[in-house]
Amino acid sequence: MIIILLGAPGSGKGTQSKRLADRYGYQHLATGDIFRAEIAKKTTLGLKAQDYVKNGKLVPDAIVTEMVAGRIDAKGKFLLDGFPRNLEQAQALDSMLKKDGVTVSLVCLLALDSAEAIRRMSARRICSQCGAVYNAATAPPAKDGVCDACGGAVVQREDDTEATAKKRLMVFDDLTQPLVAYYRGEQIFEEVDANQAPEKVEAALAAFIEAVGAKS
Ligand code: AMP
Repeated sequence: MIIILLGAPGSGKGTQSKRLADRYGYQHLATGDIFRAEIAKKTTLGLKAQDYVKNGKLVPDAIVTEMVAGRIDAKGKFLLDGFPRNLEQAQALDSMLKKDGVTVSLVCLLALDSAEAIRRMSARRICSQCGAVYNAATAPPAKDGVCDACGGAVVQREDDTEATAKKRLMVFDDLTQPLVAYYRGEQIFEEVDANQAPEKVEAALAAFIEAVGAKS
């Protein structure tokens, strides 16, 4: 079972993927999280990706698809967060799965307007050690700058500054929107209003996942 969550940066893909992966026993494959971890560890992959990530640009498709191919198992249960990001990646994913006679089960778009996405990105803070996500205005850690979960430093992502956040939204509009258009005509496509409270978004996504689970 392969489920894809699509949405602009700041639309809540990460938060929702974590909740739903735990709830339904999916592996959460978040390409942005993987890149940040590899960059922090200064691995070969991290060094290849770091300038793109820092500047809000997409990492080249060949690097991303090789990374995903090494981590995904077509016969497993995966919730994909941040991949695919363009049509080429979607086609690469389809051919990875096709070898095992598998197709994508569900694509959900978290729809959010750009102004709200920018607001959310500028308030977002993450733990530099465990990746836990906070909001500087509405959900800060109990102790300023210290992660509740692991005691790591809570910081703003380098690519969440206003200028880079705007650039990432433009990349989303240019490259990911055509992908949304590609899936929108398909039966596996569903859309959720991401302006709603996280619990409501989760409930809507859960209903779609349960409907797909019931069919398989
Ligand atoms: P995210 O955490 O999903 O917002 O991703 C952060 C950054 O990681 C993006 O701005 C890209 O630089 C890179 N990245 C993550 N996923 C992909 C992908 N599927 N293709 C290309 N670059 C990606």
